[in-house]
Amino acid sequence: MTGALEAEEQKLKQFQMHQPAGTFVCDSNIYASVPAQELVTTYNARMAKDPSAARRHYDHIVSRAPFGRCPFCGQRDVHSLDHTLPKDAFGTLAIAPANLVPCCSRCNQLMGNQWGADLESKFFDPYSESCESFDWLRCEIVPGAPAQITFVVDCPAATHAVTVNRIQRQFRLLRLASLYAAETAALVGSTRALLARLFVRSGSAGVREQLLETAGSFALIRRNSWQRAYYYAAGNNDWFCGGGFDT
Ligand SMILES: [Zn+2]
Repeated sequence: MTGALEAEEQKLKQFQMHQPAGTFVCDSNIYASVPAQELVTTYNARMAKDPSAARRHYDHIVSRAPFGRCPFCGQRDVHSLDHTLPKDAFGTLAIAPANLVPCCSRCNQLMGNQWGADLESKFFDPYSESCESFDWLRCEIVPGAPAQITFVVDCPAATHAVTVNRIQRQFRLLRLASLYAAETAALVGSTRALLARLFVRSGSAGVREQLLETAGSFALIRRNSWQRAYYYAAGNNDWFCGGGFDT
């Protein structure tokens, strides 16, 4: 084993030591007979490059993202593959399918070459790990003209501190608060007339029912989507349901 491969093995062991049970496992030995740099070159020149001989494999993995949406932000289209363990540090995993996660170009760029040497600095692996078993994304609506709509991480009190820190870190690094606020502003603008008609027909109770039913629909797709958080907050906000949507 070369010195470089040995160093990579050690980093991989360090990464896996901090992995939650049942999550990402990738054995670098499967490609150990091929020099790491050759695998990186294969990825860059023959797989990621468009067009190239193996580009279809890249596109196939990209196409596996549910609804074509990035699993990290839940919003943007998927156009790239992220290496869970960066190819610059883990060359032997450059083309390993288990190490390739479809995501949007912006999240890929913001995650950079970070690979989570300890659990707290590790991004959630969409393949094998989920933080969707409880609500952690909360939308806040402050009355005004226009209303101030913001998003914060708000985990249940019993959530393990490490999980809370990981969610907060990922939320901050991927700049999701500003992304979700911008998307919500556009949504509020485009649904204003619809809610106004509903208000004339059914009053604030009708508006509330519509908003909460829509929140429930989005929760079925992605529990901590900005849409679920917004519709839930709006449906439970007396000012918003009573005409605040039209400010
Ligand atoms: Zn994304």
